[in-house]
Amino acid sequence: MGDIGGQVYTVVPKDECCGCGACCAGCPTGAIRMEPDGEGFLYPVMADKSLCTDCGKCARVCPVLRAKDQKADRAEEGPAFYAVVNNDREVLAASSSGGAFTLFAQKILSEGGAVFGAALSADCRKVEHICVEDEVGLEKLRRSKYVQSDMGTCYQQAEKLLKAGRQVLFTGTACQIEGLKGFLGEDYPGLWCADIICFGVPSPKLWERYIHYREEQTGAPVRKVIFRDKISGWANSSLTVEFAGGDIHSEKQSENLYMRAFQRRIALRPCCYQCSFKGTCRIADVTIGDLWGLNAVLPEWNDDKGVSLLMVRGDRGQTLFEQVKENCRWQAIDGEEALRHNPMAVKSASRPPRRDKVFRKLDRMSFDLLIQKYSNNSATFRRRVWRVLHRLGLC
Ligand SMILES: Cc1cc2nc3c(=O)[nH]c(=O)nc-3n(C[C@H](O)[C@H](O)[C@H](O)COP(=O)(O)OP(=O)(O)OC[C@H]3O[C@@H](n4cnc5c(N)ncnc54)[C@H](O)[C@@H]3O)c2cc1C
Repeated sequence: MGDIGGQVYTVVPKDECCGCGACCAGCPTGAIRMEPDGEGFLYPVMADKSLCTDCGKCARVCPVLRAKDQKADRAEEGPAFYAVVNNDREVLAASSSGGAFTLFAQKILSEGGAVFGAALSADCRKVEHICVEDEVGLEKLRRSKYVQSDMGTCYQQAEKLLKAGRQVLFTGTACQIEGLKGFLGEDYPGLWCADIICFGVPSPKLWERYIHYREEQTGAPVRKVIFRDKISGWANSSLTVEFAGGDIHSEKQSENLYMRAFQRRIALRPCCYQCSFKGTCRIADVTIGDLWGLNAVLPEWNDDKGVSLLMVRGDRGQTLFEQVKENCRWQAIDGEEALRHNPMAVKSASRPPRRDKVFRKLDRMSFDLLIQKYSNNSATFRRRVWRVLHRLGLC
């Protein structure tokens, strides 16, 4: 994965581009393609200037511009908040929070519909959006993958299915759902949208580096990755990596270097530090996250197996939720209290000054030394104290 070869073509400043790919999918002449920059995030690039007719469609479909213009069809009324746990214990164990996503996905599949969401590629090096039409495929979409996913041609595939009268559940981050809506440009009765609460999306290049580092450490190719593995519980979940030959490396998220880089906010896409899509008034019918405020809002439910925080919007959101209620344990909850414990639903992560250094050194340092150096709060604190003492001539 190298630096962008062509000219970056964003209709907003590069730091604001969310990489959803709506401009590329919407371009009627195919003049735009998505390419990774030096940090590994995808950006639109003018592939062939001679094909551009200046029609302006790329700007019309851009979700960041739409959010600025406030033209998007966002629900104005606040959502209803629920605690949700999937009745199927196997699905719950294989889901990041309470398995709310699978409730909706199975409903759409049972009606002959299709579900779009993020999956790991076969070699686990990439996260890509895909379309699945059966239970086997659904397994690939389960669990959060803490890497920005590549939308590929999913917007176009969804449009084709919707035009053919099929039911479609489209899932992803709020910016991806807004990108889809901008691309489609009209409402389809068969379209249901579920977005996730999103802290921010880490760099695909950093993820590739992590997989490479693990393979070097073990001496075997990675075969499977399990994000948010609940072997040590929901609150203290692990990142588990399985290798060809049977070796397994499993570490609590709090100890894992990749997850540390994510949680310390040093590897996120630039736009995530000023996300246009945070808040409770969103375009998706339902929003799913972890109910981190469980002990405050519903302590008697806490068995450390996972509970979803579900936001349900408008008549369509309620219609969708009504159809899955019999398959889960659910309860209406105080949204304000729930959000107090999940601030990333409504505000962007702050941008640490060392974030840019991480990316400047990404090609020059080994993965473990890089993340140890820039994710270690206590080391940063010690360095700061040392600098102050040095300036004062005390050491
Ligand atoms: C990068 C990222 C940051 C997140 N930050 C928060 C947070 O700060 N607070 C919070 O409460 N929840 C956060 N979540 C959401 C949370 O981790 C769960 O995804 C959510 O609770 C759904 O869980 P589930 O048990 O219903 O279903 P699961 O089966 O665990 O989730 C699967 C769903 O997540 C989607 N998904 C997985 N990875 C990605 C991806 N890379 N890009 C887009 N969609 C993806 C799938 O398409 C599918 O819809 C984050 C998720 C991701 C991917």
